[in-house]
Order: sequence, then structure tokens, then C-alpha cells
Amino acid sequence: MRVANLNGRASLITAEGLAIDIEQASGGTLPHEPMRIFDHWAQVRNLAATVHGGVRFDSAELDAPSPAPRQIFGIGLNYRAHAVETGAPIPDTPLTFTKFVSAVNRPFGDITIDVPTVDWEIELVAVIGTGGRNIPESAAWAAVAGLCVGQDISDRLLQRATQPPQFSLGKSREGYAPFGPWLVDAASVTNRDALPLKCTLNGEVVQQSNSSDLIFTIPQLIAYLSGIVALYPGDVVFTGTPSGVGGARTPPQFLNQGDVLVSTIDGVGSITNHCVPA
Ligand code: ZN
Repeated sequence: MRVANLNGRASLITAEGLAIDIEQASGGTLPHEPMRIFDHWAQVRNLAATVHGGVRFDSAELDAPSPAPRQIFGIGLNYRAHAVETGAPIPDTPLTFTKFVSAVNRPFGDITIDVPTVDWEIELVAVIGTGGRNIPESAAWAAVAGLCVGQDISDRLLQRATQPPQFSLGKSREGYAPFGPWLVDAASVTNRDALPLKCTLNGEVVQQSNSSDLIFTIPQLIAYLSGIVALYPGDVVFTGTPSGVGGARTPPQFLNQGDVLVSTIDGVGSITNHCVPA
């Protein structure tokens, strides 16, 4: 099952790539607001198993599948090769920061390039369904509504502007958190612990890895985070990026106006972001 935010309305995306409005298809028993759909995930699953048809749509009509989450978590250095390329030690605790919610962007939204050190990070993103505190690892996948593709866009200069560095603002400029294109029901993804990720910049592969290389898995991250803070329906977890980011290259490479960033996770989906002038 795939659930998208189509023009502000929660919609099923069929295998044929057509959209079905959830509120209309349910005869009004399910809400149209994307942020309310997480409380009805099981009923949406039932609906998805019975509906047919659908309408065509344009990818530009897709908004973030959780457009107003209460919390967005980012995990740093969560792939070994990426920790190595940045010169940092392999973490023994998840390196956690926030992307402030005003950074949320559409899956095909533009990224404004108005500073010289904007970098890319493809990430597998988990969106919380039921939430709560002290969720054990064994129950963590059941707490996830769906998976999607994200870009943890970063202003590297701002990210390291203070000593010690504090990542959150450098990863929260306007539009720095595109994710989507929809949520794939986590329960339906058979290889959810081993998903191939690929990011291309102007057609050239810059990142290619597999989520099986995560240092802290999604269940481990959910158990860790929920042991400290409450997780809420619709909360977003950017799980970390593999190696191949621009700032770690020799010489460093950053995003320029006119660049096109395509981020794909097999079995989940693909998002495209154009880099534009302010
Ligand atoms: Zn990241």
C-alpha cells in the first residue's frame, strides 16, 4: 500500500500509479487530512485492499506525506563508510539532531541555492504511525506507518559554524527537508531492512548503498528515541546518509543553481529536486 498527500488530501496510489482519494473512497468514514491518516492506518489498509480505479495526477501535485509533523529527527554518521569519509569515529550512540519542521518540502520541491555550501544526503525516512514511549525493538516496526525517500539537505558552513558543531539549524533552511513521494506501508515492504539507495546529481551517481549498512537500524533508532522522548503519529525520522556527500569530496563539491538531484530507493520510490536561485 502507498499513501500520498495529493494536493493536501490523503490518497492511495495504486499499482498502476493512479490516485484514489481516501475520504471519498471510504464514503466519508476516513479523513482527508494527511496528518490524521496515521490514526486510521489499519482501516486505510483495509480500504486499499478493496478499492479499484483511480485518477491520473502530476508529481508536482504531491506534497510531503507527513506535511506538519510535530518532530523531525535526523541521525548523523549512521553508515560506516560515511562516518569514515567525514573523519569521524564510528558512533556507539545514535548522533541525533532535529530538522525544524519549517524546513519540510515537497518531494518534487525546489531547493533554493543562496549560500555556497549546500550539500546532498539521500536518506531512508521512516514516518511514525502509532508512536508512544519506551517502544521495544521487537515492536518498533509496528510503530512505523510507512517508509519514504528523503533528502537531508545541509548548509555545511552553517552546520559547522559553532564549536562544538550544532547541526540542527544548518539542516533547516527553507526547503531543506524534501521527502516522499508517498509512504509505502512498512508492513508490506518485504526487504525493509535491506533497501538499495541511489542518489544522482545531474545524472551522475554520487551516492549508492543499501540500508542494510545502517549502523543503527530503524528498530534500534525507534527504541532509542522513544526511550528518551515521546514519538507522535506522523513524526519523521531521517535515518542517515551513506557515503558520497559533496562536502567530503576532494575538492569539496556543493549544489549549484540549475542542478538536478534525483534520490531513489528501490521498492519505495523516487524524488526529484531542482536547485534554483533565490
Ligand atoms: Zn543526514
